[in-house]
Amino acid sequence: MGRSTVAIVVHGGAWSIPPEAREPHARGCLAAAERGFAVLEAAGSAVEAVVTAIELLEDDPTFDAGRGSVLSAEGRVQLDAGLMDGRTLHVGAVAGVHRVAHPIRLARAVLERSSHHLLVGEGAERFAHAQGIPLVDPDSLIVDRERQRYADFLAGRLGAADDFAHDTVGAVALDAGGQLAAGNSTGGVAFSLPGRVGDAPVPGVGYVADSRTGGVACTGWGEQILRVGLATRALVAMERGAAAQDAAAEALEVLERAVQGRAGLIVLDRRGEVGLAHSTLCLAHAYRRSGMPEAVGGTEAVRR
Ligand code: ASP
Repeated sequence: MGRSTVAIVVHGGAWSIPPEAREPHARGCLAAAERGFAVLEAAGSAVEAVVTAIELLEDDPTFDAGRGSVLSAEGRVQLDAGLMDGRTLHVGAVAGVHRVAHPIRLARAVLERSSHHLLVGEGAERFAHAQGIPLVDPDSLIVDRERQRYADFLAGRLGAADDFAHDTVGAVALDAGGQLAAGNSTGGVAFSLPGRVGDAPVPGVGYVADSRTGGVACTGWGEQILRVGLATRALVAMERGAAAQDAAAEALEVLERAVQGRAGLIVLDRRGEVGLAHSTLCLAHAYRRSGMPEAVGGTEAVRR
């Protein structure tokens, strides 16, 4: 009897990734997919693989998550993350934290060690402290690129709105026990109001996982994604029998039809089939499943 299929797919944001930033985006996603895949091959859980992959992306300043996040209108990082265990349908999510270098790790603590699903702001940071997750100086999460972008914003030197939001990260994994998990981590949309929360930490909207069907993670303009419950659209399409790729494309069609929105989705079904679709210019992504010698990825997938 063959070994069970394991698989992981990660994203590193949609939007129009500038040409010089494409290689680091692809490289970061490939490294995260490999790291998550190694967890799965060592019989680690889907939750463990998703968290491991996302932590690597949070550490990579290329991405708008953890260190390297965009700044709010007040010049601060405000971080959101969420994680769903498709085995139990339990969720852990945090929003509006400033002092946590790995918000996905905190989301996991909420999932596994609290009786709640979503903690915000100061309460979330107090929970982090109580759980032994270090609180860091928020300035240590700000990189020069974002300081400069913020200075340009204050000076009125920035261009199209699409350039204001970048590079949220996420992952969906299938483990050897047939369980799925999905998660996201983001610094949100640049120069947004203090307290703004998008889709990324909201279960069923920015991400969803149900081991009976599949897992999904989304990236794009959170305000639009929230209005259609985007991740659930793709999950429901799979429940109706759609293939992972068709489910991703169908969800994007709904987004466009309903709110003229654009986004990117990564999808994994319970057999390990991958779906990747985006109506934005780019979708940084990578994936690897059993039988592939290494992860493959890039900054453009199947566009519709
Ligand atoms: N969806 C994220 C948000 O609205 C941003 C992104 O995916 O780029 O916070």
